[in-house]
Amino acid sequence: MRTPLIAGNWKMHYGAAETAAFLEELLTEERDPGVDVVVCPPAVALPMAAMVLTGSDIGLGAQNVHWEESGAFTGEVSALMLKEIGVQWVIVGHSERRTIFGETDETALARARAAQAANLEVIFCVGETLDERDAGETFAVLERQVADLGALDPGHLVLAYEPVWAIGTGRTATPQQAQEAHAFLRLRMSALFGGETSESLRILYGGSLKPANTGELLPLADVDGGLIGGASLDVRSFSAIIRAAADCAAGETP
Ligand code: PEP
Repeated sequence: MRTPLIAGNWKMHYGAAETAAFLEELLTEERDPGVDVVVCPPAVALPMAAMVLTGSDIGLGAQNVHWEESGAFTGEVSALMLKEIGVQWVIVGHSERRTIFGETDETALARARAAQAANLEVIFCVGETLDERDAGETFAVLERQVADLGALDPGHLVLAYEPVWAIGTGRTATPQQAQEAHAFLRLRMSALFGGETSESLRILYGGSLKPANTGELLPLADVDGGLIGGASLDVRSFSAIIRAAADCAAGETP
Protein backbone atom coordinates (compact mmCIF):
# COMPACT_ATOMS: atom_id res chain seq x y z
CA MET A 1 0.00 0.00 0.00
CA ARG A 2 1.41 3.39 -1.03
CA THR A 3 1.19 6.28 1.43
CA PRO A 4 -0.54 9.19 -0.33
CA LEU A 5 1.54 12.31 -0.87
CA ILE A 6 0.08 15.78 -1.19
CA ALA A 7 2.63 18.33 -2.37
CA GLY A 8 2.03 22.06 -2.80
CA ASN A 9 3.91 23.86 -5.55
CA TRP A 10 3.65 27.52 -4.66
CA LYS A 11 5.48 28.65 -7.81
CA MET A 12 6.45 32.36 -7.54
CA HIS A 13 4.03 33.12 -4.69
CA TYR A 14 4.72 34.07 -1.08
CA GLY A 15 7.89 35.63 0.24
CA ALA A 16 9.37 34.82 3.64
CA ALA A 17 6.78 36.64 5.78
CA GLU A 18 3.78 35.21 3.90
CA THR A 19 5.38 31.78 4.00
CA ALA A 20 5.73 31.94 7.78
CA ALA A 21 2.12 33.06 8.20
CA PHE A 22 0.82 30.33 5.88
CA LEU A 23 2.79 27.54 7.56
CA GLU A 24 1.93 28.68 11.07
CA GLU A 25 -1.73 28.45 10.11
CA LEU A 26 -1.26 25.10 8.35
CA LEU A 27 0.37 23.68 11.47
CA THR A 28 -2.76 24.47 13.48
CA GLU A 29 -4.87 22.27 11.20
CA GLU A 30 -5.57 18.75 12.36
CA ARG A 31 -3.83 16.35 9.98
CA ASP A 32 -4.10 12.62 9.42
CA PRO A 33 -0.65 11.03 9.88
CA GLY A 34 -1.49 8.63 7.04
CA VAL A 35 -0.78 11.28 4.40
CA ASP A 36 2.66 12.68 3.57
CA VAL A 37 2.56 16.45 3.07
CA VAL A 38 5.19 18.58 1.35
CA VAL A 39 5.24 22.32 0.65
CA CYS A 40 7.47 23.90 -1.98
CA PRO A 41 7.81 27.68 -1.46
CA PRO A 42 10.01 29.95 -3.60
CA ALA A 43 13.76 29.55 -2.99
CA VAL A 44 14.11 32.75 -0.97
CA ALA A 45 11.44 31.61 1.50
CA LEU A 46 12.96 28.16 2.10
CA PRO A 47 15.09 29.14 5.16
CA MET A 48 12.03 30.73 6.82
CA ALA A 49 9.92 27.67 5.96
CA ALA A 50 12.59 25.36 7.37
CA MET A 51 12.57 27.33 10.60
CA VAL A 52 8.77 27.32 10.99
CA LEU A 53 8.53 23.62 10.10
CA THR A 54 11.23 22.53 12.56
CA GLY A 55 9.94 19.52 14.46
CA SER A 56 6.86 19.10 12.25
CA ASP A 57 6.18 16.21 9.88
CA ILE A 58 5.50 18.49 6.92
CA GLY A 59 8.22 18.05 4.33
CA LEU A 60 9.97 20.98 2.69
CA GLY A 61 10.68 21.04 -1.03
CA ALA A 62 12.38 23.32 -3.52
CA GLN A 63 10.97 23.97 -6.98
CA ASN A 64 14.20 23.42 -8.88
CA VAL A 65 17.85 22.49 -8.40
CA HIS A 66 20.98 22.72 -10.51
CA TRP A 67 23.00 19.66 -11.51
CA GLU A 68 26.40 21.02 -10.46
CA GLU A 69 27.56 21.49 -6.87
CA SER A 70 28.79 25.04 -7.51
CA GLY A 71 30.10 27.20 -10.31
CA ALA A 72 29.28 29.96 -12.77
CA PHE A 73 25.54 29.30 -13.06
CA THR A 74 23.89 32.65 -12.40
CA GLY A 75 20.53 32.35 -10.71
CA GLU A 76 20.84 28.65 -9.90
CA VAL A 77 20.97 26.79 -6.58
CA SER A 78 22.72 23.49 -5.91
CA ALA A 79 21.39 20.41 -4.15
CA LEU A 80 23.95 20.76 -1.35
CA MET A 81 22.86 24.35 -0.75
CA LEU A 82 19.25 23.19 -0.44
CA LYS A 83 20.25 20.34 1.82
CA GLU A 84 22.22 22.68 4.06
CA ILE A 85 19.13 24.78 4.86
CA GLY A 86 16.92 21.79 5.65
CA VAL A 87 15.22 21.08 2.32
CA GLN A 88 14.27 17.42 1.85
CA TRP A 89 12.44 17.38 -1.48
CA VAL A 90 12.76 18.96 -4.90
CA ILE A 91 10.43 19.28 -7.89
CA VAL A 92 12.22 18.58 -11.15
CA GLY A 93 11.08 18.98 -14.77
CA HIS A 94 7.91 20.95 -14.06
CA SER A 95 6.19 21.91 -17.30
CA GLU A 96 6.76 25.63 -16.58
CA ARG A 97 10.48 24.90 -16.35
CA ARG A 98 10.25 22.94 -19.61
CA THR A 99 8.15 25.42 -21.61
CA ILE A 100 9.29 28.79 -20.23
CA PHE A 101 12.89 28.06 -19.26
CA GLY A 102 13.92 25.48 -21.84
CA GLU A 103 14.23 22.48 -19.52
CA THR A 104 14.77 19.28 -21.50
CA ASP A 105 14.49 15.60 -20.61
CA GLU A 106 18.30 15.58 -20.33
CA THR A 107 18.64 18.57 -18.01
CA ALA A 108 15.72 17.38 -15.89
CA LEU A 109 17.43 14.03 -15.46
CA ALA A 110 20.73 15.73 -14.58
CA ARG A 111 18.99 17.82 -11.93
CA ALA A 112 17.23 14.77 -10.50
CA ARG A 113 20.49 12.82 -10.31
CA ALA A 114 22.25 15.67 -8.52
CA ALA A 115 19.35 15.98 -6.09
CA GLN A 116 19.41 12.29 -5.24
CA ALA A 117 23.20 12.36 -4.87
CA ALA A 118 22.63 14.95 -2.12
CA ASN A 119 19.95 12.76 -0.50
CA LEU A 120 17.01 14.85 -1.65
CA GLU A 121 13.71 13.20 -2.60
CA VAL A 122 12.73 13.96 -6.19
CA ILE A 123 9.28 14.74 -7.57
CA PHE A 124 9.80 14.28 -11.30
CA CYS A 125 7.13 15.88 -13.49
CA VAL A 126 5.98 14.61 -16.85
CA GLY A 127 2.97 15.31 -19.03
CA GLU A 128 1.82 16.02 -22.56
CA THR A 129 0.69 19.32 -24.10
CA LEU A 130 -2.77 19.70 -25.61
CA ASP A 131 -1.35 19.49 -29.15
CA GLU A 132 0.42 16.27 -28.26
CA ARG A 133 -2.76 14.80 -26.76
CA ASP A 134 -4.84 15.87 -29.76
CA ALA A 135 -2.26 14.29 -32.06
CA GLY A 136 -2.60 10.99 -30.18
CA GLU A 137 0.97 11.26 -28.89
CA THR A 138 0.32 11.20 -25.12
CA PHE A 139 1.86 7.81 -24.43
CA ALA A 140 4.80 8.38 -26.78
CA VAL A 141 5.57 11.65 -24.97
CA LEU A 142 5.32 10.05 -21.54
CA GLU A 143 7.47 7.16 -22.68
CA ARG A 144 10.15 9.56 -23.93
CA GLN A 145 10.03 11.67 -20.76
CA VAL A 146 10.64 8.71 -18.46
CA ALA A 147 12.89 6.68 -20.78
CA ASP A 148 16.11 7.41 -18.88
CA LEU A 149 14.79 7.47 -15.33
CA GLY A 150 16.46 4.09 -14.81
CA ALA A 151 19.49 6.22 -13.87
CA LEU A 152 17.66 7.33 -10.70
CA ASP A 153 17.13 5.63 -7.36
CA PRO A 154 13.44 4.65 -7.37
CA GLY A 155 13.44 4.59 -3.58
CA HIS A 156 13.78 8.37 -3.58
CA LEU A 157 11.63 9.14 -6.58
CA VAL A 158 8.02 10.24 -6.98
CA LEU A 159 6.53 10.79 -10.43
CA ALA A 160 3.99 13.52 -11.10
CA TYR A 161 1.74 13.16 -14.12
CA GLU A 162 0.75 16.70 -15.03
CA PRO A 163 -1.02 17.12 -18.35
CA VAL A 164 0.23 20.55 -19.41
CA TRP A 165 -3.24 21.57 -20.62
CA ALA A 166 -4.61 21.04 -17.11
CA ILE A 167 -2.03 23.10 -15.21
CA GLY A 168 -3.47 26.37 -13.97
CA THR A 169 -6.29 26.20 -16.52
CA GLY A 170 -9.16 24.94 -14.37
CA ARG A 171 -9.39 21.92 -16.69
CA THR A 172 -8.63 18.52 -15.22
CA ALA A 173 -7.98 15.20 -16.82
CA THR A 174 -11.02 12.94 -16.74
CA PRO A 175 -10.68 10.04 -14.34
CA GLN A 176 -10.21 7.75 -17.34
CA GLN A 177 -7.48 9.94 -18.87
CA ALA A 178 -5.68 10.19 -15.52
CA GLN A 179 -5.92 6.51 -14.66
CA GLU A 180 -4.72 5.34 -18.06
CA ALA A 181 -1.74 7.73 -18.00
CA HIS A 182 -0.83 6.68 -14.46
CA ALA A 183 -1.18 2.97 -15.28
CA PHE A 184 1.00 3.51 -18.34
CA LEU A 185 3.67 5.27 -16.26
CA ARG A 186 3.60 2.48 -13.67
CA LEU A 187 4.13 -0.03 -16.46
CA ARG A 188 7.14 1.96 -17.68
CA MET A 189 8.50 2.08 -14.12
CA SER A 190 8.05 -1.68 -13.95
CA ALA A 191 10.13 -2.05 -17.12
CA LEU A 192 12.86 0.14 -15.60
CA PHE A 193 12.89 -1.01 -12.00
CA GLY A 194 10.91 -4.24 -11.81
CA GLY A 195 7.32 -4.92 -10.80
CA GLU A 196 7.74 -4.80 -7.03
CA THR A 197 9.50 -1.43 -7.07
CA SER A 198 7.02 0.01 -9.52
CA GLU A 199 4.17 -1.04 -7.22
CA SER A 200 5.67 0.94 -4.36
CA LEU A 201 6.55 4.05 -6.41
CA ARG A 202 4.13 6.94 -5.97
CA ILE A 203 2.64 8.67 -8.99
CA LEU A 204 0.93 11.99 -8.25
CA TYR A 205 -1.70 13.67 -10.40
CA GLY A 206 -1.27 17.39 -11.05
CA GLY A 207 -3.43 19.80 -12.99
CA SER A 208 -6.10 22.02 -11.40
CA LEU A 209 -6.62 19.59 -8.52
CA LYS A 210 -8.87 21.23 -5.93
CA PRO A 211 -11.22 20.13 -3.14
CA ALA A 212 -14.14 19.88 -5.59
CA ASN A 213 -12.48 17.29 -7.82
CA THR A 214 -10.47 15.19 -5.37
CA GLY A 215 -13.42 12.80 -5.15
CA GLU A 216 -13.00 11.69 -8.73
CA LEU A 217 -9.20 11.76 -9.04
CA LEU A 218 -7.63 10.72 -5.75
CA PRO A 219 -9.42 7.33 -5.43
CA LEU A 220 -8.09 6.11 -8.82
CA ALA A 221 -6.08 2.91 -8.52
CA ASP A 222 -2.78 4.35 -9.75
CA VAL A 223 -3.11 7.87 -8.35
CA ASP A 224 -1.14 8.22 -5.13
CA GLY A 225 -1.81 11.84 -4.28
CA GLY A 226 -1.39 15.18 -5.94
CA LEU A 227 1.00 17.93 -6.92
CA ILE A 228 -1.05 21.06 -6.42
CA GLY A 229 -0.43 24.59 -7.64
CA GLY A 230 -3.25 27.11 -7.23
CA ALA A 231 -5.22 25.26 -4.57
CA SER A 232 -2.11 24.83 -2.41
CA LEU A 233 -1.93 28.60 -1.87
CA ASP A 234 -4.91 28.62 0.46
CA VAL A 235 -4.58 26.83 3.80
CA ARG A 236 -8.21 25.76 3.81
CA SER A 237 -8.26 24.28 0.32
CA PHE A 238 -4.83 22.65 0.76
CA SER A 239 -5.99 21.12 4.05
CA ALA A 240 -9.23 19.92 2.43
CA ILE A 241 -7.21 18.11 -0.24
CA ILE A 242 -5.03 16.51 2.46
CA ARG A 243 -8.18 15.35 4.28
CA ALA A 244 -9.59 13.94 1.04
CA ALA A 245 -6.38 11.95 0.52
CA ALA A 246 -6.65 10.62 4.06
CA ASP A 247 -10.26 9.58 3.44
CA CYS A 248 -9.22 7.77 0.26
CA ALA A 249 -6.43 5.95 2.07
CA ALA A 250 -8.95 4.90 4.70
CA GLY A 251 -11.20 3.56 1.94
CA GLU A 252 -13.79 6.28 2.36
CA THR A 253 -15.10 8.39 -0.49
CA PRO A 254 -14.01 12.01 0.04
C1 PEP B 1 1.40 22.62 -10.83
O1 PEP B 1 1.89 23.74 -10.99
O2 PEP B 1 2.12 21.64 -10.63
C2 PEP B 1 -0.05 22.51 -10.86
C3 PEP B 1 -0.58 21.32 -10.89
O3 PEP B 1 -0.77 23.70 -10.86
P1 PEP B 1 -2.36 23.86 -10.72
O4 PEP B 1 -2.79 22.97 -9.59
O5 PEP B 1 -2.57 25.29 -10.43
O6 PEP B 1 -2.96 23.40 -12.01
